[in-house]
Amino acid sequence: MYAIRNTKYELIMGYFRQNIERAKGYEPGFQPKEIDVVKLNTNESPYPPSPQVMKVLAEIKPEQLRRYPDPLGTAFRQAAAQVNGVEPENIMCCNGGDEVLRITLQALPTYSLYPVLANLQGCDAIEVPFDSEFNLPSKLAGTGAALTIICNPNAPTGSFVSVEELTSLADELNGVLLIDEAYVDYAEKDCAGLVKDFDNVIILRSMSKGYSLAGIRFGYAIAQPDLIAGLLKVKDSYNVDAVAIAVATAAIKDQQYFRQNVEKVKADREEMIKQLREMGFDVPESQANFVLAGSKDYKAANIYDKLVQRNIYVRYFNVPGLNNKLRITIGTKQQNVKLISALKDIL
Ligand SMILES: *Cc1c(COP(=O)(O)O)cnc(C)c1O
Repeated sequence: MYAIRNTKYELIMGYFRQNIERAKGYEPGFQPKEIDVVKLNTNESPYPPSPQVMKVLAEIKPEQLRRYPDPLGTAFRQAAAQVNGVEPENIMCCNGGDEVLRITLQALPTYSLYPVLANLQGCDAIEVPFDSEFNLPSKLAGTGAALTIICNPNAPTGSFVSVEELTSLADELNGVLLIDEAYVDYAEKDCAGLVKDFDNVIILRSMSKGYSLAGIRFGYAIAQPDLIAGLLKVKDSYNVDAVAIAVATAAIKDQQYFRQNVEKVKADREEMIKQLREMGFDVPESQANFVLAGSKDYKAANIYDKLVQRNIYVRYFNVPGLNNKLRITIGTKQQNVKLISALKDIL
């Protein structure tokens, strides 16, 4: 038996650590119960997963459920290594990209989840904002942080910091650089190549967006084997379940289906940007599966409410800097048309 005492936190009130007691927790996007709404608020793929995924799912054997899963998800590791041009030892399977973040923060001493997770570990998170052109701020290298997190393409702007800039940053930093590439499937370039040259780089990938598997919870990290080995010590023994391993492996192996969907979304994204700009919205270029539309003339909160009345959900962040903007996920052609015509109607 163990009696667990914590010397760092005093039990002042309630059972929780003070930082947990104070934490607000991450606020997920709204998940409407009805199925037939136009749901463009949480950046899922509008397309179903690969037919190969559904086949694997239908063929799950009772034995796969009775037994504990492979703790390392070897089948997925091998497939993901091949797709990314690295070795299986460079890959750690996780229960969603979110778990890559949690494990990293736990192993080492901006997506709104970053400060929430850092706070749960009793750490400070210094938020370093982009300038108005979405350039990498020069003071990022000077924070002395054990971990620097960059979301690239960034959420919710969709902007992309060049591979060259991130290469320089990895070189300058003493601590670890985690590049959150949850949306990289929709970008022209990625930073996986940095892992070959830098022992302090972790790439986060998610199967939730480009591979249409948000419901299954699967993500992975790419890093040098020593870094992966350290992170593996921190993960739950069986952090990815047998069904998820089988399904995610089938999905990443079907690169043809994946590319086809990604290309559709990218083409529809350009169309969406064009239409929104024609309506007078200010929309920066995006390398993700969403766009951030701002308006000087209309209140984003009002537009959001009026869209909800029409069963169309986009994302509105009531925070400084974003409260005159809407983040819109690229949907199917039909969903995008519905959104655009509703917007025309509302304006
Ligand atoms: C979606 C997302 C992730 C990972 O999500 P999972 O569903 O846990 O794989 C990580 N970072 C950002 C910015 C995201 O949008």
